[in-house]
This record gives sequence, structure tokens and C-alpha cells, in this order.
Amino acid sequence: MHLLNADLHCHSNVSDGTLSPAALAERAHAGGVELWSLTDHDEIGGQARAREAALDLGMDYLTGTEISVSFAGQTVHIVGLGFDADDEQLAQGLEHTRAGRRVRALQMAEGLAQVGIPGAFEGALQYVGNPELISRTHFARFLVETGVCPDTHSVFRRYLTEGHPGYVPTHWAKLGDAVRWITQAGGIAVIAHPGRYRFTPTEEYALFTEFIAHGGRGVEVMTGSHSAAEHIRYADTAVEFELLASRGSDFHAPGESRTELGTLPDLPGRLKPVWEALAARIHTAVR
Ligand code: AMP
Ligand code: MN
Ligand code: MN
Ligand code: MN
Repeated sequence: MHLLNADLHCHSNVSDGTLSPAALAERAHAGGVELWSLTDHDEIGGQARAREAALDLGMDYLTGTEISVSFAGQTVHIVGLGFDADDEQLAQGLEHTRAGRRVRALQMAEGLAQVGIPGAFEGALQYVGNPELISRTHFARFLVETGVCPDTHSVFRRYLTEGHPGYVPTHWAKLGDAVRWITQAGGIAVIAHPGRYRFTPTEEYALFTEFIAHGGRGVEVMTGSHSAAEHIRYADTAVEFELLASRGSDFHAPGESRTELGTLPDLPGRLKPVWEALAARIHTAVR
């Protein structure tokens, strides 16, 4: 099971990816993925299509989502895997988490208009696949397409992060709520890309201990968001906190994402893969 090619983190056009769930399934399968999960931000509207496409291709499937959480003044992402996609409390929690995105986007556009970039709300909307899920990524694509910045990374650096004109602070879900929505629906909660956050050691320790106290059980070790050094560092963290380890590319779009589906290094042998604990929750393809 260790050497299974599992890719348990990516995005479709139901959130801020550009491919449909079915097209992503094909890309994952072509990349050699054997166990796949679509983890759209704050949304599970693509789950049925992703699961059906995966099973048709002979690829095993776990349900997934990536919940936006506010913790210690920063945004933290919590991936949920293997939950019941029909769970009512999870659906309501995600709906509540999505609710502020439209107003936030209008405020972002106001900030951009003040520095001479008009029409960003309408511009970003052109890239949105799901009206409830307008994200900074859609603004970034618009600003690249109109020549304001050469690539999405520089848009984030110059306009969409704290201290810049298109940044609007947001209250996302509470850590304990996100973990509870996932676990009470039969899934496992996983801290996404811990290397991305800018926490002090004390804050990071608080994140892990509070996450575990709320019932969280996993951490992403192998992710497209980590450097080689962070792969090692968070493998140690998984051991230290006795957490299950996950692996996922965080693929968003061809030409935009550096890490292709299914191409990350395997989890180190000393870690316990999250998919072993979710064996009973896997939708298994007939091969
Ligand atoms: P939002 O949920 O609207 O705040 O948007 C967050 C999304 O923006 C993340 O899931 C990433 O896809 C994307 N993102 C965040 N930071 C960067 C960055 N520095 N470069 C490119 N994309 C980023
Ligand atoms: Mn994203
Ligand atoms: Mn994320
Ligand atoms: Mn992601």
C-alpha cells in the first residue's frame, strides 16, 4: 500500500482549477494515479462527477474537500478525505464558509480600482466556473490575461496578499468546526501544506495540538507546495505528533501548476499513509 500512487489534493473548475472533474480524472489516470481525490475549496459539488469518472477509468476514489479556516490571524487549509458526500452538516458548514466570498470579491475589486485597475470583479467572474466560489486565483488569472502581471505568482505578491491593494481579510471557518464537519461525516481531517504558513514555532505547535484535540488525524507531507527540505521536516512532524501522512499535488491548471498529478515522491516508509486508515471508505473501481 505504501508505494500506491495516491494523489489526494487537487482542484477542478468547481473551485479555482480550470479543468472539469472528468477532465482532471483523465489527467490523474494518465499520470499513473491509482487512488485519487478531488479536493475543491469549500465545495463538494464536483464529487459525484469525479467519483464516476475515476471509477469508469479503473481508478479508486476517496471523497475530498479543502476547507478554509482562520487560525492565529492566518488562513489555514484543512483537507477532508473519505467523508460521506451526502452529509447534511458538512454541506451546511461548507455553504456557510463560501458565503462571504462574493462580498469579499467586490471589496477586492474596489481596492484594485483605487490603484488604477478597473473592472476586476467582472473580469475575475469570466474565469469562475461556480458563482459561489470566486477566489483570489480568478482575480490572478484576470490580471495576467490583461497584462498587469506576467504570472499568477507575481499577482499574489504585488496585489493579493496582506499589505497589498487587492487584499481583504476574511473570517473563514473555525478550526474545530472544520475538523468536526469532516469527522462526523465519517472522514479524516488533514492539515494541508503546513510548510506554506508563516507561523512562529509556538503558533505552529498550537495549530497541531489544537487540531489533534479537535479530532484531526492527518498531515500532508508530500505536496506540490513543499520544498524537498519541507518534505523531510513534515515527515518528522508526522512522526512527532503520531499523525497519518498524506500526499497530493495540489494541481490547479495546466501551465500554471508546477506539480503534475501523480508525480510527487512516495511517502517515506516510516510514515503511516492516511489511505490505509481510510481503506473502508475508498470507492473501489472494478478492474
Ligand atoms: P482564496 O481561497 O480565494 O483566498 O484563494 C486561495 C488560493 O489562491 C489558493 O488555494 C491558491 O490556489 C492560490 N494562491 C495562494 N497564494 C498563491 C501564490 N502565492 N501564488 C499562486 N497562487 C496562490
Ligand atoms: Mn487554490
Ligand atoms: Mn491550500
Ligand atoms: Mn489546494
